Amino acid sequence: MTETALDVLRRVWGYADFRGDQAEIIDTVVAGGDALVLMPTGAGKSLCYQVPALVREGTAVVVSPLIALMQDQVDALAALGVRAGFLNSTQELGERRAVERALLDGGLDLLYLAPERLAVPDTLALLDRAQLSLFAIDEAHCVAQWGHDFRPDYLRLTVLHERWPDIPRIALTATATDATRREIAERLELTEARHFVADFDRPNIQYRIVPKDNPRAQLLELLRTEHAGEAGIVYCLSRASVEQTAQFLTAQGIEALPYHAGLDRRVRQANQARFLREDGLVMVATIAFGMGIDKPDVRFVAHLDLPKSVEGYYQETGRAGRDGLPSTAWLAYGLADVVQQRRMIDTSEGDAAHKRRLSMHLDAMLALCETVECRRVQLLAYFGQASGPCGNCDTCLAPPETWDGTIAAQKLLSAVVRLEQRRQRYGAGHVIDILRGKRTERVATLGHENLTVFGVGEDLSEAEWRGVVRQLLAQRLLAADPEYSTLSLTPDSRAVLRGEREVQLRREAPRKARARTRASRDAVVGELVPEAAARFEALRAWRAAAAKEQGVPAYVVFHDATLREIALRDPQHAHELAGISGIGAAKLERYGADVAAALAELREGR
Ligand code: ADP
Ligand code: ZN
Repeated sequence: MTETALDVLRRVWGYADFRGDQAEIIDTVVAGGDALVLMPTGAGKSLCYQVPALVREGTAVVVSPLIALMQDQVDALAALGVRAGFLNSTQELGERRAVERALLDGGLDLLYLAPERLAVPDTLALLDRAQLSLFAIDEAHCVAQWGHDFRPDYLRLTVLHERWPDIPRIALTATATDATRREIAERLELTEARHFVADFDRPNIQYRIVPKDNPRAQLLELLRTEHAGEAGIVYCLSRASVEQTAQFLTAQGIEALPYHAGLDRRVRQANQARFLREDGLVMVATIAFGMGIDKPDVRFVAHLDLPKSVEGYYQETGRAGRDGLPSTAWLAYGLADVVQQRRMIDTSEGDAAHKRRLSMHLDAMLALCETVECRRVQLLAYFGQASGPCGNCDTCLAPPETWDGTIAAQKLLSAVVRLEQRRQRYGAGHVIDILRGKRTERVATLGHENLTVFGVGEDLSEAEWRGVVRQLLAQRLLAADPEYSTLSLTPDSRAVLRGEREVQLRREAPRKARARTRASRDAVVGELVPEAAARFEALRAWRAAAAKEQGVPAYVVFHDATLREIALRDPQHAHELAGISGIGAAKLERYGADVAAALAELREGR
């Protein structure tokens, strides 16, 4: 008799039960139906096709754009005793032939395939000769043409059901807006597919957005006070700032590696491999990095520049805390970000409709930054999900004050008007100097102390004025020239000047370190009694050695949560490990005796 899906889950993965919609999704695919799955990162998408791959006859073909991660994915499955292989452009011919042979001999449960392989007629002919169980289309949002990860090769995936109409397909993504979902279903021609949309909340991630002041110092403070020695990702917009930030952190004694598309492929891969394999490294990267990274213990994701869309932001921050333990999503955002992003849209290629779309994405992102409501409520609402205040974001933890900024806005806009009357335009810095009555050299040269608005804004600090400018830009009550960043009015500015429109602003909180209620490291070992904590550390050391010996990331051996459970139970014999979450048959056989020995050694050593 064939095993049920639940049997497979328990035997191979050592997990007790399915989570959320997993069981239903798996039943759908096992029964031969199509499925479109939207789940946040870390919710457990992979099992949705890996389990059916083991239950159904034949080989499951997994289409994935993550060429650099295929080896790791296959290694992780091999550690579970699952037969998996991949075909992509990085392989030598001999290697490829071996995988093809295994496929045709029925020796593979899963075959990972880069989408461009499907353009090669040989690949299609090869798949014709194999017995296929299902197609899984991972990172399915890559088919969305206006999305943030578009891959032209994905458009070719309609070949799958045209050529193999009877083989079930499951498409999966962590991107969740209705528009993206419709686009995926349409472009992949998943007309009959059942849609599964999971709860998108990631309650263990604390969302924080702070005004950008001295971003590197702010970042350093975050890493030192809350995430010392922990793994994390720092996103920057440009390659240059990636390099500089990585150097800066390294100079400060924090081990950081750069990652961007301008680096040599080998360097990039080596840095990625180190980040995955070693503990506590910081990856400084452009958004070229991160898709498919399944490192479970990324404790923070920091953005030094404003993301282009809420979807992108949510995907990037979602890489924190896949293990469910407390993690931080931190973004520093300032006036220059708004100007720079608007400029990038203006100068981008594409027609007016495309630019409008980019602008809408940016506006949604800005609204998230400027909100005085719960960040999570706003994030989830963006994905069509209603929720209440979360208690685990900066606005919930320290509710920002709002203030009536109408008069301040009028002063600022009047200054811009006065300058425009003189046919002059200046950037925020100079306009603020005028408002604050600062007699700078430039003010003197231009005779700007004679303007009626000179010195009318002494009641606000420079930082507060920058906050006003930024928020007016975000609300489109003020515009900045894409090239020179000079300020000008917008069609909506007049209503403010005429007193027909009120302006509510968020008060700029002075920068201060807020100690987290619980450091994440403590969350992993915190409640362990000293003996269990010592066992946990001993097990970590054993795991590091085992992982190094096999050339795989530590989490492929066991997750922290599994080690923690072992440390608590302190088993005397290998067979007592059975039943601990994350220890399936293959891992029990492979590591059981070693784990028991490591614990015995510790016991005797004491
Ligand atoms: P996603 O691809 O959705 O980001 P993964 O498939 O990598 O997430 O799963 C995230 C983590 O949760 C993995 O470590 C996985 O082994 C674990 N996991 C998934 N499903 C279950 C389950 N039913 N029980 C216990 N752990 C699970
Ligand atoms: Zn909140």
